[in-house]
Amino acid sequence: MRTSPLPLLSNVATYQANTFNYAPAPDVRPTRAEWIDSFRRTTSEFRSRVEADVAAIPDAAQRCAAAAEFVDRFTAELEALEAPASDAGDPLCCLKLCALRDRLLREAGFPDCFKAVKAAENAKALTLLPALLAELDGVSDPQQRLQALIEGVFAGNIFDLGAANTAKMFSDGGLDFHSTRAKLQARPWTVDNFDALAARWAGPPHARAVMFVDNSGSDVVLGMLPLCRELLKRGTAVLLAANSVPSINDVTAAELAPICAAIAAFDPVFAAALAEGRLRVLATGSDLPVIDLAQLSPYFCEQCEGCDLVILEGMGRGIETNLTAVFKCDALCLGMAKHWEVCLALGGGPLFGCVCRFQPAPQ
Ligand code: MG
Repeated sequence: MRTSPLPLLSNVATYQANTFNYAPAPDVRPTRAEWIDSFRRTTSEFRSRVEADVAAIPDAAQRCAAAAEFVDRFTAELEALEAPASDAGDPLCCLKLCALRDRLLREAGFPDCFKAVKAAENAKALTLLPALLAELDGVSDPQQRLQALIEGVFAGNIFDLGAANTAKMFSDGGLDFHSTRAKLQARPWTVDNFDALAARWAGPPHARAVMFVDNSGSDVVLGMLPLCRELLKRGTAVLLAANSVPSINDVTAAELAPICAAIAAFDPVFAAALAEGRLRVLATGSDLPVIDLAQLSPYFCEQCEGCDLVILEGMGRGIETNLTAVFKCDALCLGMAKHWEVCLALGGGPLFGCVCRFQPAPQ
């Protein structure tokens, strides 16, 4: 497949879709084995998802055999990767491990094992959205409203079935947008450039923003789409950038378009923006729960020309692959650190600590 780099990257030659070193010196933590273990801990969540994926493989015995094949191959591959010699000039990183897990799932016959839970969570979140938008619209101070919107992005981002801690909370019934928002880490956040963001927000609105979204359900519907709507209200045109191909519980472009249409049915801001073409949903070309901004669909990259704001959301896209990426325009990385390895690599901060990195465009 032909790919292009995002034209908003400052320097494609030096860009790497990787924030953390998975092969640190022996006395540095997280160690390579600990990073690999953060993937191993997700195995039981994936096993239960594929074992329940009747749509992919209707026959129960065949499905269980395919699920066992996935678990065995993933476990064996992770074990083999524990030896640094396995890198052979191509260093281990988060993106490679995500790609490995997705490839093994697809090869075992499960291209979209989170499909049912994504649909259920999207429908549930949509019922909560009108009241949330009314609450946000009631915050009259623009800076306080911006902080409430950013906190909503963090609270939504806890719906992440690719991270072992939050997958367990979801299956225990303990994930709830409003209670999560009420219990968020207090400022200063683990990475906290909110004041710089608010200062920029007080200036002229951006002309055109691209927002890379992450998970289905509360993440996109109650977190990112209210932020998108605020941008639209300011007069900014928005490109919503979602995966082309299903990966874990990430929302795909095909799933996101009808969500936006459903919101337009009751919200005049979304309705006008969709009708005027100021709000568009685009497929990035990616099939991963993280994102390599050097390997995107050429059409998508063309559409991003001229954007003066890029927003990357979620632990995978905003933290693990692009936290240190440098852009030609204003850039905002938002996400929650849901693995203790990520917290440690960020220099501390609690589990479920919040990351708000704002980098203004170079002058
Ligand atoms: Mg995700």
